[in-house]
Amino acid sequence: MEPLVEPLMEQEQEHGRELGQELVEPLLASRRPTCKSEVLKVLWTIFSPVPLYSLAASVDITTLTSAWFFKLPAYMSWRARFSINAMALFTYVNVFATIGIFVASAVVVPAVPGEYHGLLTHHLPKEPPFTKLAYFLVLSLALTVARAGARKILHRKLLTSNRSVADMALALYECDCVAWNFTMLITAIGLLTSVHGSTVHVMTGHGMTESQAIFVHVATRLFADCWVADIILRTAWRWIAQRIETDFQNSQTYRMIAELPSTTSSECPICLSDAAIEYCRLPCGHAFHRECLFSWGRHQMTVVTCPLCRLSIGT
Ligand SMILES: [Zn+2]
Ligand SMILES: [Zn+2]
Repeated sequence: MEPLVEPLMEQEQEHGRELGQELVEPLLASRRPTCKSEVLKVLWTIFSPVPLYSLAASVDITTLTSAWFFKLPAYMSWRARFSINAMALFTYVNVFATIGIFVASAVVVPAVPGEYHGLLTHHLPKEPPFTKLAYFLVLSLALTVARAGARKILHRKLLTSNRSVADMALALYECDCVAWNFTMLITAIGLLTSVHGSTVHVMTGHGMTESQAIFVHVATRLFADCWVADIILRTAWRWIAQRIETDFQNSQTYRMIAELPSTTSSECPICLSDAAIEYCRLPCGHAFHRECLFSWGRHQMTVVTCPLCRLSIGT
């Protein structure tokens, strides 16, 4: 009987490897923000307060990209759930607010008197509020495009840099905070003060109808408020992400993975690297980096299963 054991085990390992190859794609995808819905991916890249990748490090992005709101793992506290769904809600409100100022710009810019065309040649603080409003509306749209472009370029650069998901998430998040918090705050203040100075009376004086003027007021205020909320949510993300991590570390999932026996292996099927960091062995015999298994566990809804053979870790 003895000699049969080894070939059988090998066969099993071979089968596991085949299974593994099949599962490698979805396995990596669950740790990277690949989107099932291209529309939602584009919406999140342009309008989300926090870059997609930073969210993906804490929350399983695939659940978001197949639905409008996140399906969240059972270990998350209601505070974490609330914050993340507020993030989703704001992303979608931002879409409508941006459409609003796009329409507002289309109404306001042509109404600016001829002598103020070529705004940048003038000294901005001396401009009348209505001209300033046109300037800030166009600036808002330009910044929205610039932010989406910057996120896309940086994301592509980081993807080729072979960093860990957590490092990439942090780098993208820091860049977003540095580049946009101040710029967006100044623009939001600019919008609010200039729309305050451009009363409905002033706007109708520039040839706009009363309903156009009211629309511009509502759209501009909504958009400026959205950007302030955007800045607050982005700043708060530091604490929200920490909160999610604490929830995870207090969870049953975390304890189960932490208690798996250490082992040695030549390659981790989750990250496909042979990095000499700690490996652990599951009851089914499959071995993974313990860190990678924690990332896997973070995104599991209720029961944690082996990434290769789907056997429940708890059994
Ligand atoms: Zn690994
Ligand atoms: Zn397994």
